[in-house]
Amino acid sequence: MTREQLTKKFNDFQSRMSAHRFAMFAISWDASTEAPKKSAPYRARMIGQLSGEIFAYQMLPENIAMLEEIISLPECDPLMRRSAEKYLQEINKNRNIPLAEFVTARQNTAMTTRIWEEARAKNDFAMVAPHLAREIETNRRFLEYRASSGHPYNVLLDDHEEGMTIESYDAFFNALKADLLPFVRQVHQGAVQIDDSLLYKFYAKESQKRFVEYLIQVIRFDMDAGVLKVSAHPFTSGVSCNDVRFTVRYMENYLPASVFAGVHELGHAMHSQQGDPSFEGTNLQRCSAGMGESQSRFYENFIGRSLPFWQTHFAKLAEIFPEQMEGVTPEKFWRIINRSKPSVNRVEADELTYPMHIMIRYELEKLLFGGEIKVEDLPELWNSKHEEYLGLRPENDAAGIMQDIHWYQNLWGYFPTYALGTAYGAQFYYTMLETIDLPRVISEDKMEIINEWLRKNIHAQGGLFSPSELFMRVTGEEFNPQYLVRYLKEKYSLIYM
Ligand SMILES: [Zn+2]
Repeated sequence: MTREQLTKKFNDFQSRMSAHRFAMFAISWDASTEAPKKSAPYRARMIGQLSGEIFAYQMLPENIAMLEEIISLPECDPLMRRSAEKYLQEINKNRNIPLAEFVTARQNTAMTTRIWEEARAKNDFAMVAPHLAREIETNRRFLEYRASSGHPYNVLLDDHEEGMTIESYDAFFNALKADLLPFVRQVHQGAVQIDDSLLYKFYAKESQKRFVEYLIQVIRFDMDAGVLKVSAHPFTSGVSCNDVRFTVRYMENYLPASVFAGVHELGHAMHSQQGDPSFEGTNLQRCSAGMGESQSRFYENFIGRSLPFWQTHFAKLAEIFPEQMEGVTPEKFWRIINRSKPSVNRVEADELTYPMHIMIRYELEKLLFGGEIKVEDLPELWNSKHEEYLGLRPENDAAGIMQDIHWYQNLWGYFPTYALGTAYGAQFYYTMLETIDLPRVISEDKMEIINEWLRKNIHAQGGLFSPSELFMRVTGEEFNPQYLVRYLKEKYSLIYM
């Protein structure tokens, strides 16, 4: 093939892959926001069909040969080479899996998710347990097709965060266990108690929505290129910087659900919206799950839960909720939203206990994929680990083992990226402080300065580099969990000591 023919073939391949991704994006957005409950089985079949078609297409020997040829070209366009590399990484994961098994697995997963919803509503883990066991079994079989040696969980970890292994996550979580957990216990057992009943007052949905709309302006997210809707589990998805969609949920007796999940999703949304427009329609838009989460956590925690943020924006909240906020100062509000207490719910956890929730999930996944425990063992292990690390047990399985959608969506090895991303965010925070007076910028409402730093250093880099390479470029250092430990100790010492 001449270079022109090769480029044309690659462009055709890429455009077909992107068209499929766009279709799946639209279907899953619809499924989570608009589609009626009974539409699930038909949608599962259609998703299976479409996934099968694109699976077969990328596995065509001529396509694989084309991608391999691009990578071996001596003077290849670096963007095209990186893109081909990323496609091949994905293909190599699945190339030995028989098509029929792949399609069946996709359909099964769609149904598992559906059954989890019902099982959770009925607080009946036994109802979904066999489906969950099937997901794990399918994964283990697929991992055999990938002929990976070593611990099967390593492959799943690397799927979501390139380069990460049990060894590196163990080192990360052990550092948190050794250096953070004693501090968490000290805070929880200390004399300072913060009354957070303010957060559980009545906050009308409509008014919460007004505040979320205000936050969109504060963060400077462009709503001409975005959509906000409501869903049971807030999430963000986007196919290009001109089409980024995110959701929130409104709980009328718990204000943080919309405010902080809102800023969190806005962080993801800014990450996508500030991407390089020339990456539209390519596979170079995303770096990794951990890098993605570092951005949502950056906006949520390092900006949204900071004192300067509330010194600047509390007035608006008090204007919308005058009765609820009567007699409350910005400083007092800041302490209340940052109160730390043992909890069994990951999504509602405070910054200090959040990594512990992830550590529990990581430990259980490692045991499951190491074949050391079975699905039936999960509820009891889940509860006892909560007691050990967080000091209390969930009331029931709906509030415990069934609280998160991830496992029932066949997402394994994904949870750890949440804690890792938070720790990436802490290191980015200290790097940013070297050149930006963050507290002042936040209190002067100059969000564009922060946005620009993140855009230039992270968002616009998309998937050009592996997570560890990009991390090195941004911070000039290797990843170090001690930045997160330092940040949390500094912050919570101010609040509690
Ligand atoms: Zn997130």
